[in-house]
Amino acid sequence: MKLQDILNKINLPKASDIVIIGGGVIGCSIAMQLSKMSFGSITLLEMNAISSGATSKSGAMIREFYQIDFLIEMAKESKKFFEQSDINFIKNGRIYLFSKENTDSAYNNAILNKKLGVNIDVIDIKQIKNLIPEVNIDDISIGLFEPEAGYVDSVETTYKFAQNAINNGVQIFTNTKAESIEINKNGIQAIKTNKGKIKTKMIINASGAWANYINKSVDENLPIFALRVQQVILKANPAVVPMNYCLMDYSKGTYLRPDYGQTYIAGEELGFEQNDIVSPDYYNQSSDHDVITEYKSRIVSRLPSFDNSIIKSGHAAIYDMTPDANPILGASSKIKGLFYAVGFSGHGFKLSPIIGNMIAELITKEKTDPILKKFNLSRFALKNLILPKFPIKNPNN
Ligand SMILES: Cc1cc2nc3c(=O)[nH]c(=O)nc-3n(C[C@H](O)[C@H](O)[C@H](O)COP(=O)(O)OP(=O)(O)OC[C@H]3O[C@@H](n4cnc5c(N)ncnc54)[C@H](O)[C@@H]3O)c2cc1C
Repeated sequence: MKLQDILNKINLPKASDIVIIGGGVIGCSIAMQLSKMSFGSITLLEMNAISSGATSKSGAMIREFYQIDFLIEMAKESKKFFEQSDINFIKNGRIYLFSKENTDSAYNNAILNKKLGVNIDVIDIKQIKNLIPEVNIDDISIGLFEPEAGYVDSVETTYKFAQNAINNGVQIFTNTKAESIEINKNGIQAIKTNKGKIKTKMIINASGAWANYINKSVDENLPIFALRVQQVILKANPAVVPMNYCLMDYSKGTYLRPDYGQTYIAGEELGFEQNDIVSPDYYNQSSDHDVITEYKSRIVSRLPSFDNSIIKSGHAAIYDMTPDANPILGASSKIKGLFYAVGFSGHGFKLSPIIGNMIAELITKEKTDPILKKFNLSRFALKNLILPKFPIKNPNN
């Protein structure tokens, strides 16, 4: 049966051993990984279409560089998955640029990453210029180069995860909204949807920025808020030699990623963005003219040839932020049978394969990976936040 035929199904099962809420890259990865582990019946509910939330706008940039040891290990495992899969992983390399305020942090993080086996090097101004001859380095003191980083297509990848899950027997229902969870003293009994009820004892909340909608019914509020972020799509001047790297500019606070047909996606790095907190259901999904022209001017001041690029389009999307910009993963301590994989704070795409695997193992083997424990919801109450030892700061603050 074709994926689209399956996705159009409307008859919900009466019961399912587990129900996953959310058909973004995280929910689909969990469904795929869980379905490989000969678990019982698995149902995934998506209120719109597969990959219609944050995932649809994701830069889907894949890298190993992180500022925290266990996130580096997770990113490495995930990258291995992308390398070994049939997903089109374009390894164009990634350059990080730092102004003098972040020089020490760049060095220290490079040491940490190299120690853990990441292929990354500190590069000086001359080496940066060798990689991108036209780059303006007036405000730059140092760079990092990760040659094996790159990007994938976010929507295509998520559909592949969904297709794999379906091939292994997962039932996926789109246009199906999880409305509430029924519980009694023994834990979860059922999930109510706009299309009927499914009896279940286990639920994974992978609903991104909407996580608290379903959680209202179990009275467990998660510290997640939706942050509106914007991207501009630039069409480069065809006469100009394309700049092929992913560029993370920690001086100007922008990222730039090549896309198909001489286009580039540019946006603002976390920590530099506007404080635009919104409702995930009612936010302006168009871009603001002043914001995207500002992004373009930052790119032009770094790469002057972009002066002739055209603003092809712009849009807004949301990050599901937590107070330490890291996800909430694992079992709810309040409701037996409820699990979380939410709050990815703008960097969840690259981690999706390992997250799927860790959550699937937690469920099938009832074994909590020691790394997974660090992402437990209780860390916020215990003030045990996940924070980098050598943070990269916004030099303009
Ligand atoms: C502009 C942008 C650029 C990014 N760039 C990168 C990057 O380069 N690299 C990287 O690693 N990460 C990046 N990210 C982050 C990454 O894309 C996200 O962390 C990831 O896609 C989150 O996936 P998700 O499945 O958790 O959430 P979502 O994709 O938001 O999925 C949640 C799904 O749940 C559904 N849902 C919600 N409530 C219900 C309900 N009650 N019933 C049924 N369904 C429900 C929603 O419709 C949605 O489809 C970026 C994000 C954005 C927005």
